[in-house]
Amino acid sequence: MNIWVAKVIVLLANIAMVAIRAPHGQRSRGVPVRKSRKGTLEVVLLIIAWIAFFIPLLWVVAPVLAFADYPLRPVPLFAGTICLALALWLFHRSHADLGPNWSITLEVREKHRLVTQGLYRRVRHPMYMALLLYAAGQALVLPNYVAGPSYGVAMALLVALRLGPEERMMLEEFGKDYEEYRARTKRLVPGVW
Ligand code: SAH
Repeated sequence: MNIWVAKVIVLLANIAMVAIRAPHGQRSRGVPVRKSRKGTLEVVLLIIAWIAFFIPLLWVVAPVLAFADYPLRPVPLFAGTICLALALWLFHRSHADLGPNWSITLEVREKHRLVTQGLYRRVRHPMYMALLLYAAGQALVLPNYVAGPSYGVAMALLVALRLGPEERMMLEEFGKDYEEYRARTKRLVPGVW
């Protein structure tokens, strides 16, 4: 199959990610932060995430990673595109549900409200689920051993190392409300975990 099919899908998915997040990033700059847990680990994780986000784009525009290319096959391309579409929908919905309570890092905003509606009614981390699904989709669509899994490695690290501190921060902030919320919801996958 023509590699450009994968390149166009990867490029469009990346543009959609940025377009979905942009208005929320802009709005969040205007909402004062009351508490921040952005320590060294958070900074390192965010830098890794940024680098991993740009590696697939580098693969699209330049041949530097061509040594790790492999042939594009229709089945993973199709499955990956479905994952990407679903991930983008989840990414959009979770941003919409969190509204002004969203932060790119571990922060509590002025007038922070515990969101338990929309996607958050069933799982506590739908945005991280969206990012993991997006990473899986990209790994399937992008036929390169380096650029394909790069975002997945970064997101797996981010989710593994952030879930605990984030939940502790929310527990500290919302106490019993978060305890009850945690008791009736799963982390990432409804009804499973
Ligand atoms: N972990 C969530 C949110 C990611 S954004 C998800 O995957 O969907 C990270 C920020 O969202 C955290 O700093 C925290 O302040 C905020 N947050 C996380 N869960 C929240 C909730 N249920 N209600 C309100 N804010 C929440």
